[in-house]
Amino acid sequence: MEALLVDFLEHLADQFLNPQKRVFVGYLASALVLALAVQMLVGGTALLGSLARLFSRKIWWSRSARADYSIAVLNQAVMMGVVPRLVSKLAVATLLFEAMHIWFDGRPLLWPDAPGWAVAALFTLVLFLLDDGTKYLLHRWLHGWPLLWCFHKVHHTAETLTPFTVYRTHPVEGVLFALRSIFVQAAALAAFFFFLGDRVELVTVYGANAILFAFNAAGSNLRHSHVRISYGRFLERVLISPAQHQIHHSDDPRHHNRNFGAVLALWDWLGGSLCLAERGQEIRFGGPATTGPAHSLKTIYLEPFRDACSLLAGLLRLRPATVFRRLSSLRRRQDAQDRAGFPVGTE
Ligand SMILES: [Zn+2]
Ligand SMILES: [Zn+2]
Repeated sequence: MEALLVDFLEHLADQFLNPQKRVFVGYLASALVLALAVQMLVGGTALLGSLARLFSRKIWWSRSARADYSIAVLNQAVMMGVVPRLVSKLAVATLLFEAMHIWFDGRPLLWPDAPGWAVAALFTLVLFLLDDGTKYLLHRWLHGWPLLWCFHKVHHTAETLTPFTVYRTHPVEGVLFALRSIFVQAAALAAFFFFLGDRVELVTVYGANAILFAFNAAGSNLRHSHVRISYGRFLERVLISPAQHQIHHSDDPRHHNRNFGAVLALWDWLGGSLCLAERGQEIRFGGPATTGPAHSLKTIYLEPFRDACSLLAGLLRLRPATVFRRLSSLRRRQDAQDRAGFPVGTE
């Protein structure tokens, strides 16, 4: 029991000490510097006033934020028990690697005289694109499929945003993202080992993927904050700015199902779900209706299961053809909403 507690506390501390984690102290510090710079240089607020605004008790000690802290700790315990029991990355990679020998009839070694740095740079870039692209897809499905929305809704009931809102997710969503990560990394590893030999390496900074390190060091934590930073109309078509993720959390129906991207906005641009930030835009966070109080742990953890069960029960009472028709009509309504929503890329 004692060993379990020590393990749990170590995992919790790892969130702040490991540069592979979103709330690594270095990233929190760079976000603070950036937020202060914006408030002081652009907003013209003095240092003390900026600090008071950034660390407002109304934000950091709101019911919504307090729920986020509890969820972060509880999810850590849940995921520690669940993740090791999911399929292993090495097993999936080995299986894919062996299957490729059958699919490609042998093992063609591509680019045999490529320098090591070029293979490492290519692997880092491909892994990043696969990782970010599949995060976009899964996030889009979490909004588009009613059964998945039951669980993802939890993230959108946050009414104040702090960097810890990133942990405000239902464990079912946590498992889906963990499985996605396992399969993406296994597929990239298997393909690179198969086609490029045993020269595969990741370009890292303090153990983190160099591209993600740069993104996180550039203030990624401000996307879950009340500090509005836009990258401008050109760059926001390529990279998701903090203001764009804040739009994703908006309770305004015109903003619903917009900006699903994690790092790249390109996916949203290509998928027709991009919404650029606008000057002087006021955004209120939250919105999805809940039966119980939105920030009670009972609502957050149990209501999604109840909603999912009643959705499934409703579908099971119907004939298969009707289920198919109803799901298709939900998808069509979703697509129509996407098209009719906020005008994409308007100047
Ligand atoms: Zn979302
Ligand atoms: Zn978010």
